[in-house]
Amino acid sequence: MARRKKVYEGKAKILYEGPEPGTLVQYFKDDATAFNAEKKDVIDGKGVLNNRLSEFFMTGLNQLGVPTHFMKRLNMREQLIRAVEVVPLEVIVRNYAAGTLAKRLGLEEGTMLPRPIVEFCYKDDSLGDPLVAEEHIIAFGWASQQDLDDMVALALRVNDFMTGVLYGVGIRLADFKIEIGRVWDGDFQRLIVADEISPDSCRLWDIETGRKLDKDVFRRDLGDLADAYTEVARRLGVLPSNATHLPKPTLIN
Ligand code: 5GP
Repeated sequence: MARRKKVYEGKAKILYEGPEPGTLVQYFKDDATAFNAEKKDVIDGKGVLNNRLSEFFMTGLNQLGVPTHFMKRLNMREQLIRAVEVVPLEVIVRNYAAGTLAKRLGLEEGTMLPRPIVEFCYKDDSLGDPLVAEEHIIAFGWASQQDLDDMVALALRVNDFMTGVLYGVGIRLADFKIEIGRVWDGDFQRLIVADEISPDSCRLWDIETGRKLDKDVFRRDLGDLADAYTEVARRLGVLPSNATHLPKPTLIN
């Protein structure tokens, strides 16, 4: 049997060669990592949930004309995506103070920000993905001024969509990270949302109780991560309302 070619393996996902040129298959693993992979675990069902949730968010964005790499879900753990040239930046949008922003500026976690704030981090695990200014990005050639303007506009459109959809199911979007890729339509470059949009890369707080429904549950040992992600998926109608944990395969005698 022919073996497909692995193109890249990251902490939470694997990319395989796709069926057509310009496509890839993105496989969602159950591995959870935090603090630059200093903390690691395997969370049963996480990959399945993130595959579904990323499909949900990216399909919604595609339908609104916010371009993403998502083409279609292939199975429980895999989706077909457009291959992109990844811009080596993490684009973070923040609506409420949390995480590194709260720490850096001494803000109380949960403080509403005066407006959404967009930050860029340079993607380099060995450096711990440091926060960078637009000046660094342009000086080092990671993106042009036009790309930066387009990335901010894209990130804010993603924020508007995600904030609204999540608010509708009682969830506050405190912040999130996206990655952006370049694709070429003839001679023209376009920037599209790549990677994933899931509770691994967002901060999601229950509006009524403040319960955390994102990767902070794992980072801060706050309970069962798959339960939290299942709750997000259930509220968004991505899973049937009576589904709790996704069952492990069982042996039938
Ligand atoms: P912070 O800078 O506060 O750690 O993170 C801000 C937001 O971006 C959070 O929602 C966090 O989950 C997300 N984020 C930042 N860096 C990464 C990363 O390397 N991987 C993932 N999955 N999310 C990240």
